[in-house]
Amino acid sequence: KVRVRFAPSPTGPLHIGGVRTALFNYLFAKKHGGDFILRIEDTDSTRFVEGAEEYINESMEWLGLTIDEGVKQGGEFGPYRQSERREIYKKYADQLIETGWAYYAFDTSEELDQLRAEAEAEKKTFAYDMHSRMQMKNSLVLSDDEVKQRIDAGEPWVIRFKMPEDTLVETKDMVRGEVKFNTNTLDDKVLYKSADKLPTYHLANIVDDHLMEISHVIRGEEWLPSVPLHIMLYKALGWEETMPLFAHLPLILKPTGKGKLSKRDGDKGGFPVFPLDWEMEDGVAPGYRESGYFPEAVNNLLALLGWNPGTEQELFDIDELISLFSIERVNKSGARFDPEKAKWFNQQHLMRKPVEELALLFSDDLNEREIAADISFIEKITGLVRERVNFVSELWDQSFFFFEAPAEYEAKVVKKRWKGDVPAFMAELAPELEKVSNWQADDIKAVISAKIEEKGLGFGLVMNAFRLALVGGGFGPDLMTIAEMLGQEETIQRVKAAVE
Ligand code: GLU
Repeated sequence: KVRVRFAPSPTGPLHIGGVRTALFNYLFAKKHGGDFILRIEDTDSTRFVEGAEEYINESMEWLGLTIDEGVKQGGEFGPYRQSERREIYKKYADQLIETGWAYYAFDTSEELDQLRAEAEAEKKTFAYDMHSRMQMKNSLVLSDDEVKQRIDAGEPWVIRFKMPEDTLVETKDMVRGEVKFNTNTLDDKVLYKSADKLPTYHLANIVDDHLMEISHVIRGEEWLPSVPLHIMLYKALGWEETMPLFAHLPLILKPTGKGKLSKRDGDKGGFPVFPLDWEMEDGVAPGYRESGYFPEAVNNLLALLGWNPGTEQELFDIDELISLFSIERVNKSGARFDPEKAKWFNQQHLMRKPVEELALLFSDDLNEREIAADISFIEKITGLVRERVNFVSELWDQSFFFFEAPAEYEAKVVKKRWKGDVPAFMAELAPELEKVSNWQADDIKAVISAKIEEKGLGFGLVMNAFRLALVGGGFGPDLMTIAEMLGQEETIQRVKAAVE
């Protein structure tokens, strides 16, 4: 059975790459009728951020990525929070010591820092590995008695993995294909720390993936270097047979295509990287949700960051994504993030939504502006202007003139359009409009056209001036429709106001 997990650490806002990892796991699970599991990897207490777990859950809910098993949902394989699984890990750390795959190390962080500094001074990097491990303070060097003494005396220790020498580790990554590593390039990673009685990421991750019967590990490319250690751990623990398959998703690149997208880039471009708002050092970063993105649009744009359907199609709803998704179509090369394209996706999904739904959202916005209007009127306006906006929040800018007379006139337009015979014509237009007995677009147009002909003026010129009077500038949808919707009295009122 397909069982995949999204395993974020609750260290703060989700990066866009993290959200994409969640989405790809979800799509893969649903495509194969499998389970999507949320596991909280909170063994690093120094990086723990209060509220981050709730934020992760909220993000998943907002995106509609339904979690089958997780911290909130529970499930047969729980608990799903690593800090609640302490007892489980110790056993496996001990097992690795007993089988000779791991050893105790007593080196203090000061000692290690010292070695790192010395190496750096010689333009080298210190690694705790096959070359240096026999010079260190650990159970490979010390006598059994001394090891026991130190532990009994309460001296802090860690358990390190004893990376075997000169071993070729091979795997077939579902995205990257054949990948090979030689263990000589790898160090002896810490698996467990006595100080906080917790495993590190590597051990906890492997133990949990095994016990939770994870079938596929789908995660960001930044985890590829951990693969050989993970494979060795499966081997060491005797779990090679049921080892999950790996799929490492490509990096998400900056809009320029050069370098990895970071939180900063998103900020700089005035574009939020996070799916939800989050308190940052320099204030509140607006999120996709807060910026007015629809979850459908976010899923759609994230899906195409590293995956493609093999056709020209770009717009998908989540069910289409589920049915079309395949790991084979995930690219190896980095995916460029384009903030402008992100807006386009939102606009496209906005156009796909029923007008009634958008009108309700718009009416919330109007309420906040303390503007009361009939929902049928709001629906009509929404239908008229929605193709001009990327976000619901922009509907107001495109339609404020339906709710209030222009407070000012765009100077540029006035200069260009309100000149020559126009002001005089507009003054005469008001009484003419009074005569329209059936106030609807065609009739209004007929009356104005007749008047224009009589005066021998340019149609375009007058229409621009009329628009200026009604909306205050050179924008807006079909003018006669605007006039019709404003009503006879209001239209005349605005023409008169403009003439003054
Ligand atoms: N806790 C890791 C993270 O924060 C999980 C990596 C993995 O999926 O193995 O991304």
